[in-house]
Amino acid sequence: MDEKRLEENKRLREKLDQLLNEARRNEKTQTSYDDFSLSVMAAQGPSELFSLLLSEQKRFRIDEIRLGLIDRFHEVERLLTDSYQHSFEGVSFIDADANKLQIANIPHRPELGRRIPEKFNWLMNFEDCEHYQSAALLPLKSGGKIIGVQLLLSKDADRYSKNDGTSFLHKLSAMTAISIENCINRQRILKLGYQDGLTDAYNRRYFDERLKREIDRSVRNKTDLVCLFIDIDFFKKINDTYGHQAGDMVLVKLVSLMRDQVRSSDIVARYGGEEFAIILPDTGIHIAHEVAERIRHEVEQQKLSINDETISITVSIGLASLSQIAHQIGTLKKWQDGLDKILLSKADEALYQAKQTGRNQVVIKKLAN
Ligand code: GH3
Ligand code: MG
Ligand code: MG
Repeated sequence: MDEKRLEENKRLREKLDQLLNEARRNEKTQTSYDDFSLSVMAAQGPSELFSLLLSEQKRFRIDEIRLGLIDRFHEVERLLTDSYQHSFEGVSFIDADANKLQIANIPHRPELGRRIPEKFNWLMNFEDCEHYQSAALLPLKSGGKIIGVQLLLSKDADRYSKNDGTSFLHKLSAMTAISIENCINRQRILKLGYQDGLTDAYNRRYFDERLKREIDRSVRNKTDLVCLFIDIDFFKKINDTYGHQAGDMVLVKLVSLMRDQVRSSDIVARYGGEEFAIILPDTGIHIAHEVAERIRHEVEQQKLSINDETISITVSIGLASLSQIAHQIGTLKKWQDGLDKILLSKADEALYQAKQTGRNQVVIKKLAN
């Protein structure tokens, strides 16, 4: 009898130890999760967010993490990669139109098991699929809609099995989805604040800020910089002849044409109604003159087909360079604060001169001695 009770006590003690250990482990995971979710929520921008989401989760005994974000018209990718300037290892963008069927088959609840890596490999297309023996696929949902998936991969075949509890994974995927959604919205707002809604070019506010920064950089690095002012000739007539909407389309096409003629690092902005400005950093006046001449020539050559009409336009361009100003006013450092305004007014004067002397031409501001 005594022996039986001793045996029973031992069993209970073991069970109690086991429960206590589990509780400690859960508390540790919970604390770790809380710290993690706080830092994810505070992440500034996509780089920081993805680096947290993809690397720090290793604290949860995951060998590798992949994210697939469903994207229509590459909007999400453009917003998160700053127009393809960055890429994030482990993050892929899933074209919504090309993968309609597969997207419809994404489960609405976490799916765990040994077959998950190969079953969902089409989503991310990763080549090292066979290194992982089990995985959890978590749908990322916002407002009931699936916006992407998160794949937690393990080299251990028993790490994720079909019948494991999923309440922690639910929490994790909800937090991931919210943080990505927030990040996309923040990027959208940032972009809206800096972009012209019609043409997608930078707006004047951004241009003015950026010009100051680029001038600082030029002065520091002792490089030249050129500012172009571009104005469509007789644009009022285009509006009067073809309508305001066709006029709008002309502005859109002009921006894409100008972008094709400059480097991706140059800044094309809509400065006002039908007036545009371009910053060419690290560029001297002669090269800039060639660029401006190329733009002028291309615009003149292009026949813009808009609403069954063929519209031809020309532009006048004025330009001024930082080194010209330096030549005129002496030490740049001393003047640094007002240099943007001086540069803009010189480019504007050159544009005025181009208009006054016949339009459809490029003018470099002649300096007073
Ligand atoms: P020039 O520059 O050669 O002297 O002649 P212009 O006719 O282009 O000059 P002006 O600056 O007098 O007229 C500009 C016109 O651009 C007036 C305005 O109706 C039109 N405009 C400004 N913003 C927009 C816009 O967003 N869409 C359209 N369709 N037209 C615009
Ligand atoms: Mg004009
Ligand atoms: Mg004008």
